[in-house]
Amino acid sequence: MTKNVVVIGGGASGIEASRRLRDLGYSPVLVEKEDHLGGHLASWNRLFPQMIPAKDILKSLTSDMKGIEVFLNTEVISINRLKDSYVVKFSNGLSAQVKAILITTGFTLFPAQKKQEYGYGIYDRVITNADLEAWFNGNKDKRVTDPQVIGFVHCVGSRDEKAGNRQCSKVCCATAVKQAIEIKEKFPDAVVYCFYMDLRMFGRGYEDMYLKAQKDYGIRFLRGRVSEVSEDINGRLVVKADDTLLGKPVKISMDLLVLMSGMIAPESNMELSKMLKVLPGEDGFFSPANAISNPTLSNRDGVFFAGAATGPKTMPETLSEGRAAALEIDSYLKRVGD
Ligand SMILES: Cc1cc2nc3c(=O)[nH]c(=O)nc-3n(C[C@H](O)[C@H](O)[C@H](O)COP(=O)(O)OP(=O)(O)OC[C@H]3O[C@@H](n4cnc5c(N)ncnc54)[C@H](O)[C@@H]3O)c2cc1C
Ligand code: SF4
Repeated sequence: MTKNVVVIGGGASGIEASRRLRDLGYSPVLVEKEDHLGGHLASWNRLFPQMIPAKDILKSLTSDMKGIEVFLNTEVISINRLKDSYVVKFSNGLSAQVKAILITTGFTLFPAQKKQEYGYGIYDRVITNADLEAWFNGNKDKRVTDPQVIGFVHCVGSRDEKAGNRQCSKVCCATAVKQAIEIKEKFPDAVVYCFYMDLRMFGRGYEDMYLKAQKDYGIRFLRGRVSEVSEDINGRLVVKADDTLLGKPVKISMDLLVLMSGMIAPESNMELSKMLKVLPGEDGFFSPANAISNPTLSNRDGVFFAGAATGPKTMPETLSEGRAAALEIDSYLKRVGD
């Protein structure tokens, strides 16, 4: 194919970068392993901090894909260096010879069932942040039936050496506060708790969202890790935690527990990194050559990164990196000739 850039991963970062590359005069091929574009954005309902509908962002992102070759249900099966270009073979039988490859493979959610003590997959009324987003999106879920007491557990599979992930997932404190507000809007009489270690409300407007959650919605923030979840004979959840501010253990009966699963690297990054000969970090995310001066550059000529492929990011950060990567690829191709 006469394409000059391959973009691997059709989430927000991959779509934004492909569109910008197209606008700069290139013919990108965008490869997505699922049957739809959008990545995680396609599963979310409203986005913090402004509660903007995710479907509006996705619609505007995908509204004009002219000039971009999109391969759905497709993966890369091999990448070989040929002089100053790469020959990329796809699982759909096609291949492309290109001078630039952009990795936008994003993240996957930590599998909550791995934290057995929280009871996901064991007790009916334990769900994840992604399950709750699906319910907000109108998917039926009998686990969310008129809950009177609801808990949110922060840092599920993040900041957790035993779970194999020391890193903070960055977005899940803000997501928990957002979802706590939203569930309170749906069930105004419910009592809602957030069990947190630290609250990382780092972005502009996030702190206001947290204050609003307390003042306007009466959400109770309890500092301490949940140690155990069980079910009583009536099928209600019994949640035990240590309140580290009061210095005493608490035991609360609940009707719904929402686990804030963190962002981890997709397993397929390993295969991709072998093909590209770019090493991922210890956490499985790709590592830029210089994370300060230019996080879109890898340590290999012609290989670039954008979005959550290099670690947890918010949507605005993801989109900005998609644009930055397109500009960086443009400069590179002007230098080496496309
Ligand atoms: C629960 C939760 C809620 C969030 N809510 C918000 C919010 O309200 N506001 C906000 O700013 N941010 C939010 N975020 C962050 C947001 O989801 C990310 O910033 C964004 O999804 C990152 O986009 P991405 O394109 O980099 O990765 P992804 O969305 O993960 O997309 C990556 C794409 O690449 C594909 N892919 C992966 N590997 C391959 C491969 N080998 N070959 C082909 N395709 C591949 C995947 O199928 C996927 O489509 C939230 C995150 C979480 C976990
Ligand atoms: S953002 Fe909050 S919930 Fe997520 S890992 Fe970091 S501290 Fe834990």
